[in-house]
Amino acid sequence: MTIRKYPIEWVKNSFSIKIFCSIPNVATGIIISTGKNFFVVDPGDGILRDLNNEIGIEKILAISDLFITHGHHDHVGGVWSLLTYMRVMNKKSPLNIYYPKGCIEIISIYNAFIKVYEGSLPYKIVLHEIDGDKKLSTKKVKVQPFPVIHKEYLTNRSGTRLVPALGFKFNFEGIKICYGGDTAYCDELVKMAKDSDLAIIEAGHDDNTSDDMHMTMKEAKSIGKSAKEFFLVHVPERHNF
Ligand SMILES: [Zn+2]
Repeated sequence: MTIRKYPIEWVKNSFSIKIFCSIPNVATGIIISTGKNFFVVDPGDGILRDLNNEIGIEKILAISDLFITHGHHDHVGGVWSLLTYMRVMNKKSPLNIYYPKGCIEIISIYNAFIKVYEGSLPYKIVLHEIDGDKKLSTKKVKVQPFPVIHKEYLTNRSGTRLVPALGFKFNFEGIKICYGGDTAYCDELVKMAKDSDLAIIEAGHDDNTSDDMHMTMKEAKSIGKSAKEFFLVHVPERHNF
């Protein structure tokens, strides 16, 4: 079965990923490692506790990059505490934050953080707004961002609107991990998941009819099966054990 209890860990050679959790409306938190280097994807609430248990202070301070798929609270809820921890513990190396263009949550967290701690920040934060699908690379990991389709409710649930949202495909020494973030079924994800060594696919829609916000189990599995291995994440709790 592809739905598992958290944490979920996957390792191939020295490339690994650990999903501490991915629970809709609660929190997501993911760490990727090449053995020497550490990257965090979607630092939701609890990320600092999980990183502290997993890698400890020194390695947390060595984290070079944060990848944000979108600004919903269950994906960015831990950003402030992580940035503050790095300040208190005297991080020296720069921290890159990659996020989709127009992600007001990350921009706002950054602006507030700088306002509070300007003049007492021992490390540099470098914002990278991602617009389109230009490849990037960091610490020998090639990263392909891709646009996905995700929405949120308007006030009073009177309708929905699109939110800036990305998936990321990470490639280290030819091993490919595709993470779609939160998304409805979309061609970009279909294309990126195919032939990945691991695809991490959300199945956040809680009934069997198609939706333009999240995927049904059936849709998520159909994409997951095109990869060599896949995990379904962001599954509403009543579907879990
Ligand atoms: Zn979301």
